[in-house]
Amino acid sequence: MSYLMNTYKRLPVKFVRGEGVYLYDEQGRRYLDFLSGIAVNSLGYSDPDLVHAICQQAKELLHVSNLFENPWQEELAGLLIDRFWDKGGKVFFANSGTEANEGAIKLARKYFDGKRYRIITFYKGFHGRTYGSMSATAQEKIHKGFEPLLEGFDYAELNNFDSVLKALKKDTAGIMLEVIQGEGGVNPATEEFLGKVGELCKKEGLLLIVDEVQTGVGRTGRFYAYEHYPIKPDIVTLAKGLGGGVPIGALIASGEVAKAFVPGSHGSTFGGNPLACKAASVVVRKVIDLLPQIQRVGSYLEMRLRELEVKELRGKGLMWGLELGRDCTHIVEKALKMGLVVNCTAGSVIRLLPPLIIREEHVDEAMEVLGRIIHE
Ligand SMILES: *Cc1c(COP(=O)(O)O)cnc(C)c1O
Repeated sequence: MSYLMNTYKRLPVKFVRGEGVYLYDEQGRRYLDFLSGIAVNSLGYSDPDLVHAICQQAKELLHVSNLFENPWQEELAGLLIDRFWDKGGKVFFANSGTEANEGAIKLARKYFDGKRYRIITFYKGFHGRTYGSMSATAQEKIHKGFEPLLEGFDYAELNNFDSVLKALKKDTAGIMLEVIQGEGGVNPATEEFLGKVGELCKKEGLLLIVDEVQTGVGRTGRFYAYEHYPIKPDIVTLAKGLGGGVPIGALIASGEVAKAFVPGSHGSTFGGNPLACKAASVVVRKVIDLLPQIQRVGSYLEMRLRELEVKELRGKGLMWGLELGRDCTHIVEKALKMGLVVNCTAGSVIRLLPPLIIREEHVDEAMEVLGRIIHE
């Protein structure tokens, strides 16, 4: 019997503790974590600096209303803008990925002041579960039973520029995408495709919105994954890895676009509270220092994964998908029994999202299990 709504298929393991890149269950069994709570625990578990900052902030001040000055938001926003291409950019803080994307959709519409409102998004993309973000998510299985959706989204195919041109209308305000689709099966956009999309946005005056909820904050080896591509997004959203386990989302926009929001345009009671911002500032500083290691270990992980006989290997840095071309749910359970936490997404893709602190020895340890399972 459970008091909880039946929204998740839960695996039969109770994790009670974590340390570094390992999780421990009730019996004290150790698991190597190659999922990070779906790209959330960027610093792994029990990072002393993060734990210290959270405890310290909890003692001082947990929450203060957005009706008052918030130096914790200023500090974190400064760190995010420091890595953003437009140093005049501005940040709004939310509590999750879907909320950050709602903010992005609202900002895009407000920027055009009602004259343009449509947004092109992509099949197999994922932007969240609230109405705006869900409607932006071009996946039938996510919409089913929840219609009518929010109006104004036109769907195109990733890496098919003609499909983008077909979806373009005179009242299109922007194009929203993940540079590597996460939930949809770890599908990277090509450099050529994104280059063309960027040029189209410039030519037509469209806003380029990059959802970096999963790819952002160092996951791919760059602080923002868009940095791998020849594009300068007008809007970027972050969440998952940003707080290292404390819920927080961020909406970042170029200075020009951010001007569309004025007092009263948008808001959040909890968004950017001192606890979340303090934690995220620690995470961001540490992830920036980790970037060279993420690149190095990421390349090593890629090299080792190439040894496996799978249909296709896709990803970058510490975000990888092993396309099996067949159902992979049983593999997740098998790996778990062997002490390795991985995930199966889009039905047939084993997704690896280890904590950003992993080293070569952890890759070797994971490969032992993956090699054995995939061989079978
Ligand atoms: C997980 C995810 C979201 C939704 O984030 P929530 O915090 O679950 O609302 C949005 N976009 C992308 C790319 C994601 O991976």
